Amino acid sequence: MKIGFIGLGIMGKPMAKNLLKHGYTDLFVNDLVEASVNELVSSGAKAASNSEIGENCDLILTMLPNSPHVKAVMLGENGVAPSMTTGQVFIDMSSINPIASQEIAAELEKKGVEMLDAPVSGGEPKAIEGTLSFMVGGKQEVFDTYKPILETMGASVVRCGEIGAGNTTKLANQIIVACNIQALAEALTLAQKAGVDPQLVFEAIKGGLAGSTVMNAKAPMMIAGNDKPGFKIDLHIKDLNNALDCAHSIGAPVPMTAQVQEVMQYLHNNGSGQCDHSAISKFYEKLTGIEIGR
Ligand code: NAD
Repeated sequence: MKIGFIGLGIMGKPMAKNLLKHGYTDLFVNDLVEASVNELVSSGAKAASNSEIGENCDLILTMLPNSPHVKAVMLGENGVAPSMTTGQVFIDMSSINPIASQEIAAELEKKGVEMLDAPVSGGEPKAIEGTLSFMVGGKQEVFDTYKPILETMGASVVRCGEIGAGNTTKLANQIIVACNIQALAEALTLAQKAGVDPQLVFEAIKGGLAGSTVMNAKAPMMIAGNDKPGFKIDLHIKDLNNALDCAHSIGAPVPMTAQVQEVMQYLHNNGSGQCDHSAISKFYEKLTGIEIGR
């Protein structure tokens, strides 16, 4: 099978390398950054333009920043879709607005091209290990056919519904994570301000109902003042903006999302956009004049 892969960034590069490792060596790659393309070529892939990928590949995969990038790469003037024909399949693994996924799928359907939206969670370490979690939307039969390919990059591949359901699930994930991080920052700030050691608060409550994967990952970072990303505030702002756009267009109020998005926007405006999203704690530190754990 000939596979095209467009978007060789933090996530896309190791994901494409995992396809090669699993024997998908007829791999054609493209990115705006020449060095990334060259790195994949030296691992065994072939460089190709969007139109060459559209003409030659049975399956096209993308791992791009956001909805406008996916629309431009697929449907734009120098995009992939103009050279595609009936029977080819497109799987977008970027985290984008689910409404954009549906719009792209509708355009591709006119050419007889099937599409899945298949965003991931897990970040760069899991992209390297090939243990990402895929949340997939699209037709059951297309999912069943291409699931083994996604399994070369992920440990979990779950179909959540029709086209757009993958990105809707990803937005739900991003809302829950953001609101949890903010609640954690607020609570640890309260403890410190009241003279109780946040580390002891963490130790005391992590095994109870408030305990969570978010707490285990992010409380130690807040307490140490470590804002090295993991997942950057600017990327989380992008996801929450997509959640707000989607929510407004379908009539689902998301007041907590709007509120945490404004806190993240404040941090972006004050130079913390490239910090880990646990740096929401900096907002509370600024409000109270304390430093969590210090
Ligand atoms: P990134 O910015 O590192 O990579 C995006 C790549 O797309 C870049 O290499 C860029 O050059 C390329 N690109 C942009 N426009 C292009 C175009 N027109 N043609 C060809 N290439 C183009 O981003 P990333 O961290 O790899 O994230 C990709 C997606 O995965 C995003 O939607 C992100 O939200 C999602 N995601 C990221 C993480 C993470 O931890 N980084 C985790 C889960 C999901």
